[in-house]
Amino acid sequence: MKPWILAGLAIFAGLAQSARAHESISPQYLQLLEEVVDINTDSNNVDGLTRVRSVLIPQFEALGLIVSHHPLADGHETLSFETATARPTILLIGHLDTVFPASSSFQHLSRQEDRLIGPGVIDMKGGVIVLLDTLAQLKQSGHLDNVRVVLNDDEEIGSVRSKPVLQQLSQGVTYGLVFEPGLEDGAYVSSQSGIRWVKLTTTGKASHAGLEPENGIDACLDLAIKVQKIAALARPDEHLLINPGVIEGGTKPNVVCDKASVTIDVRFQQLKDWDHTVTALDEISGHVDIYNRKLKQGTHSEWVKLAEMPVLPATGSRELVNLGSEVAKSLGQTFKARAVGYGSDGNNRASPNIQILVGLGPYGGGMHSEKEFMQLSSYQERLIFATALIRKLNPATRINP
Ligand SMILES: [Zn+2]
Repeated sequence: MKPWILAGLAIFAGLAQSARAHESISPQYLQLLEEVVDINTDSNNVDGLTRVRSVLIPQFEALGLIVSHHPLADGHETLSFETATARPTILLIGHLDTVFPASSSFQHLSRQEDRLIGPGVIDMKGGVIVLLDTLAQLKQSGHLDNVRVVLNDDEEIGSVRSKPVLQQLSQGVTYGLVFEPGLEDGAYVSSQSGIRWVKLTTTGKASHAGLEPENGIDACLDLAIKVQKIAALARPDEHLLINPGVIEGGTKPNVVCDKASVTIDVRFQQLKDWDHTVTALDEISGHVDIYNRKLKQGTHSEWVKLAEMPVLPATGSRELVNLGSEVAKSLGQTFKARAVGYGSDGNNRASPNIQILVGLGPYGGGMHSEKEFMQLSSYQERLIFATALIRKLNPATRINP
């Protein structure tokens, strides 16, 4: 335990009955947050992920929840928790992995005034701890039978392995609450873009750049032209974003390039924008931009889809945005919800009928950077909100409020 936590415990103990103690995280959960933040859980760090699971599982079990292990390829694993008598209608979603490699110098939780700083402190170990704390609040009032918790460990690399399990575990539920961080100003997320990763490869013909350039077909040049055409498809004002993030090609400066490729991230909020992008990619890859008249031969290109995440449309959140706004109002909290260009496991629901709200975790800033921080006051705000929202979604509560 760090000295500042000991100091924090003393302060919290002294203020247990005062209003200030209710404005922040309790010593018990602060200590647990520090413990899990200090264990590196880069998406590929299977040992670290296993250790964090072994810390968290007894915490959920102590609330009377039963753990199910869902083993996946390469040592990965998704966990789910529910009570023995559960009839879950609400899925509570979190992930244990972070983007910080074990080699990063950013590995530990620290505190600066009203901020907690650390790798994954908001994305989303803070969210996992507030989720657990919410369940502890709900247990006291006997509301646990309605929830199922899902924690995966590959969200930051697209949930490629866990997606089928997430979809299976979301079958039959009505609501999904994703404990990813809220936006910097505390807003919730009302819709998320769909994402596709595509790779376009173009093939030409190698030849010596000085001895016989006339016998070469330059794939790098062909790709450069195509990348410009593809980037020009973007319409940021309409949320169609195109990022040619990785380019590879050629072998040596003195050899005409025979092969080149670009990997592109495409984000959109309307499926028709993706459909138009597909048509354009077919046209662009079907066009020969570099042609060798002597050889009567040009480049050849093709593109493939590498990964995809569906859109979470505004209609997929509308009911929870409305309910959330009511709940926040009754608590005296402000409620804002906005569309964002990134995805989360909220996008990976099994059915479009499930209503999803993203951003229930505590918020701060610097996500995915070595400045990632949580605004301490956001912890208690989210804890109170999530507890009240889940109570509101509980059918038993609705009948007997
Ligand atoms: Zn996240």
